[in-house]
Order: sequence, then C-alpha cells, then structure tokens
Amino acid sequence: MTIKLYNTLTDGLEEFKPIRPREVWMYHCGPTVYDYVHIGNLRSFLLADIIRRAFEFFEFEVRQVMNITDVGIGGNNDEGEDKIIKGLKREGKTVSMKSMKELGDFYTERFKEDIVKLNIEMPHVLPKASEHIPEQIELIKILEGKDFTYKTSDGIYFDTSRDKHYGKLGRISKDGESRIEQNLEKRNSQDFALWKFNSNLGFPSPWGQGFPGWHLECSVMSTKYLGNTFDIHTGGIDLASIHHNNEIAQSESACGCELAHYWLHNEFVNVADAPTSLKLRGVDKMAKSKGNQITLKILVEKGFNPLAYRYLLLMAHYRTPVIFSWEALEAAQNAYRKLKETVSTYHVDTTSVELSLMYVKEFTDTLENDLNTPEALAVVWKLVKDESISPADKYATLLNFDKVLGLDLEHNEFEIKDIPEEVQKLINKRESVRATGDYQKADKLREQIKNLGFVVEDTASGQKISKL
Ligand code: AMP
Ligand code: ZN
Repeated sequence: MTIKLYNTLTDGLEEFKPIRPREVWMYHCGPTVYDYVHIGNLRSFLLADIIRRAFEFFEFEVRQVMNITDVGIGGNNDEGEDKIIKGLKREGKTVSMKSMKELGDFYTERFKEDIVKLNIEMPHVLPKASEHIPEQIELIKILEGKDFTYKTSDGIYFDTSRDKHYGKLGRISKDGESRIEQNLEKRNSQDFALWKFNSNLGFPSPWGQGFPGWHLECSVMSTKYLGNTFDIHTGGIDLASIHHNNEIAQSESACGCELAHYWLHNEFVNVADAPTSLKLRGVDKMAKSKGNQITLKILVEKGFNPLAYRYLLLMAHYRTPVIFSWEALEAAQNAYRKLKETVSTYHVDTTSVELSLMYVKEFTDTLENDLNTPEALAVVWKLVKDESISPADKYATLLNFDKVLGLDLEHNEFEIKDIPEEVQKLINKRESVRATGDYQKADKLREQIKNLGFVVEDTASGQKISKL
C-alpha cells in the first residue's frame, strides 16, 4: 500500500510514512469561536474527517487533535483585536473574562452541533486555548531562554531573523512584502506577538497581564497531545504562509526538531459576488470579515440536507477551490438523493453477501492518490450502474465505502412515509394538469410542492415524490 499525500512543506506528492507503524497522529487548526462557523470553515474540518476516515479504512489507528480558539490576539496580522472581544462587542455584551468564556463556550457548542450534522467524526481531543495558558507561558519562557524573543511597548515578540529556516512552509519570502507594517517597534516585519499586554483584561504572566498570541496555542496544544513531532498537520490554505510558519518557528526553535512531517491544506470555498456596474461578476473567498458567510443553519433553513453539502464538497478535490452557489447545492442534493434512493432499493435480506473486491481496490486507489474524493464518487456511480454485481453485493460494498464518504447511505431520509394532505392535493392536481399537456402549469405546481418541502420527478411510471 502506497498512500500519497500532497505536502505543502515540500510542494509535492509524497509517500506517507508514519512515525509509528500503522498509526497516524494529527493536528487540525480548529474554529475561532466568536461566531457560528461558516460552510467555508467546515471544508477544513471535512478535510480532517476525510483523512481520519481514509486512514481508518486503511486500518491505521488514528489520533486526532483539533484546537478551539477561544482566546488569542488577532488573525494573521497580530496587530488586530482579540476576536472573542470583537464577538462580544458585535453582540453588544460587556467585555469581561467571564463573558469571553461564555461567548466561547456558546459558539463551541454550535460548532460541535454543525460538525455532527455534517457527519464529521468528533476529534479525540478538542483542547481550548483558554485552558492552556500556563503551557503557553512556559513556551515563551523557553523561547526567551534561547534568545528568540524581545519586548516592545505592547508585548513580547518572536524574532524571525533568529530562525534561519523561517518561512519554509510554502516557501514564503523573508521580506514579508505582503504584510502591512504597522508596528514600528518590531525588529523585522514578519516578527509576531507571543504575548500582548492588556492592562484591563487578560491572564497574569511574568511579562505583565495580557493575552497569548494566536499562533502560540497551536504550538502548545499540538505538542502537548501529540508529542514534539507528529505525522500530519492540516488547515485552510490561508493559514499556510503566516500562521503555520509561525507555529513551525515557535515549536521548532523551542525543541530543535521537526513539528509535523506532512502539512495538508484545503482550498477555499468561494462565493460569487454580486455584479456591480463597474465590476463583472467575480468570486470571493467566504469569510466572516467579508460578511459573505453562509452557515449550515441557513442551508438547513432553506430546506437542504447538510449531507448534500458534504456531497458537494466531496465532488471537488480538497486542493481545488469550490465556488458555492445555491444552484450547485441543489444539483448536489439531487445527485445525493438519487444515490440514496438507489441504494435503498438494494437492501435485500440474504446471507450470501460479498464485497466487490474489484471495486474496493478501485475505491482504495482513489483515496491513496491524495484523497481523491471526486474519483471515489465516480467509482461509487460506476458500481451503481454495473449490472454484473448483485444488489446485495452492491449494498455491502457501498456501505463499506460510506465508512469514508460519511454520506449515511444506509438510511434514506428522502423516503416519505406520510404525505401531508395539502401536498397530496397539489400532486393530484398536477397529475390531471399533466394529462392535459399544460406543462407550464405543471411546473408551477412543482414549485408550490417544492416550497412545502417535497420534490416531484416525472418518471415513466408517473410522478415520483421525495422529501426535499
Ligand atoms: P477560523 O475560524 O477563521 O480560525 O478558521 C477555521 C478554519 O477554516 C481554518 O483552517 C481556515 O483556514 C478555514 N477557512 C476559513 N475560511 C475558509 C474558506 N472560505 N474556505 C475554506 N476554508 C476556510
Ligand atoms: Zn493553528
């Protein structure tokens, strides 16, 4: 078995070699819990899930750690305000350590609900930054002892010029041209805060009250739960150049060893922005800061099945950008519904069931090739259409694949047990309208039925109804 993964560190496909035989230990940058996560964020958590499920499918033991950022200054630019404080201000709440904790806890729970809805396996450890302050202070002390830090009027900074490997991930330039320089006290433009002073709020530290820098928590919590060097580190592609390089700088300068062997990054979920008279329609990254975010809650309120979004994401390789649109989601949901309905017809009570080994091999090959989920889905459809495989064998093989895909193919919630009277009336009306050949009216009725949460398909044997 040769599993190939694209490693941002070496900028190429590499054969995966675990530190411990048949085990994978990995760390994922998790959510900043100052708001609901959006469906772009969920793509990064889905990548974590697919890696876990694929390795479990390959019979590896997996240990997964994902941090919860419930404290920490700024984003990539550490001049920024603490995002949790920003969240409190947005919600008109008093800013205090107690309210910061309450806000963080609230959105952590909403995040967990979302990942359950998306059938993402709960990571084994979900450590919170706020519960690892002593360890973060300890790491700064180690870096201070090795002369990697300096003090300015607003905090303690990491001196990137002292780290000769700084910026090795994604091979960023040392000049930091892309960064807007705001802090004239910094020795180098790429230096970043390890601790930021705050006289009103924060945690006590040897340098004064304040908050840890955002990058610090990941260095501390990854190594606390996975050891100094672990197998895989993941996150969205926006984290590679600064956040991950800073994590590497802190951890590797402190321990003198490599932080993670493989760095995997998912591409963005983008959204088409509204055309203006000056600008043609373009695409933009989905981000809370841009105000174009869509949450899973909105998607469900519009009548979509969260797993239809999972299906949509699986249709793209994790290193390919996805342009989200409601039309694309609708098409994904239709394909997903069709798949579930087809699978539900295969379930036959028979004891003579065998996995189709030929298809298992094909499916495994797609995953071994840098987790190629669109190809894995193509294998699924190829199997569905293959008449030489018995329904019972197809069923068993597809459920086996579903251990990785996580599409809950075993259940068909689109199947209807009771059609509400109001909907049945419209269906009957549509049947008679269709008989007269008035397709325009039939289409209008289809829309009305859809607004009530049901989908009508015209088949050779008449109208077929399923749940939206
Ligand atoms: P945050 O809550 O901002 O810390 O982000 C959590 C995760 O979501 C990180 O791994 C980000 O890189 C990732 N992420 C943020 N925006 C997007 C997006 N539009 N598409 C895909 N991943 C994203
Ligand atoms: Zn991180």
